[in-house]
Amino acid sequence: MIAPGRRRSFQRRVLAWYAINGRDLPWRKTRDPYAILVSEVLSHQTQITRVLPVYERLLGRYPSVQALAQAPLADLKAITDPLGYKIRGGWLHAAALRVADRGGVFPATIEELCRLPGVGRYTAGAVMSFAHHADAPVLDTNVARLLRRHFGVVVSPRARTRQLWDLAAAVIPKGHGYLINQALMDLGALVCRSRAPRCNVCPLRRSCAFRANIRQGSSRPLPN
Ligand code: SF4
Repeated sequence: MIAPGRRRSFQRRVLAWYAINGRDLPWRKTRDPYAILVSEVLSHQTQITRVLPVYERLLGRYPSVQALAQAPLADLKAITDPLGYKIRGGWLHAAALRVADRGGVFPATIEELCRLPGVGRYTAGAVMSFAHHADAPVLDTNVARLLRRHFGVVVSPRARTRQLWDLAAAVIPKGHGYLINQALMDLGALVCRSRAPRCNVCPLRRSCAFRANIRQGSSRPLPN
């Protein structure tokens, strides 16, 4: 799907950018799948700055999946509900109960993780990549936007989702899924922003279909 030379160039520029600009986030200092799951569920549709204090508070109160499983749901929701999207407290609690039933052993495949309440392909990929350091793609909205723009994906919405997951897998350098996934998430969030992409400082600006389209003054701009 991507020529090997183009893929290597993409990987090299993204990783070089990340080495200098990557965000220092507390869940990047752990490989505990429980902590990773908590961070991903809390981050769902929520700004990182709002997630940080809740993440610290939740893990301070419930440092293990067993501790969370034993917690009254109302106590957990008192921590998570102020973030909005109130269903996430119930998801976390139900997932913790399920993992506690397995003796606290987290599932270690995408398929098993997706059987946990509230866990879809994105969250499962994040746990596989960030906790288990597997080369699993992680396609959040920021990464999807970046890949869509850079590679000029203009197929139908249904085909687009599949194509973006394929692209997210294809750009992973063997054995370095953790790094490239974190890098793409940061590049998408900080540079390839939804409303005001910062193309002038983007390491991918010379190969980006979206930017080339704009520079050529196309009357049919690629989708945002
Ligand atoms: S050049 Fe602009 S549109 Fe393309 S990936 Fe970078 S920030 Fe996004």
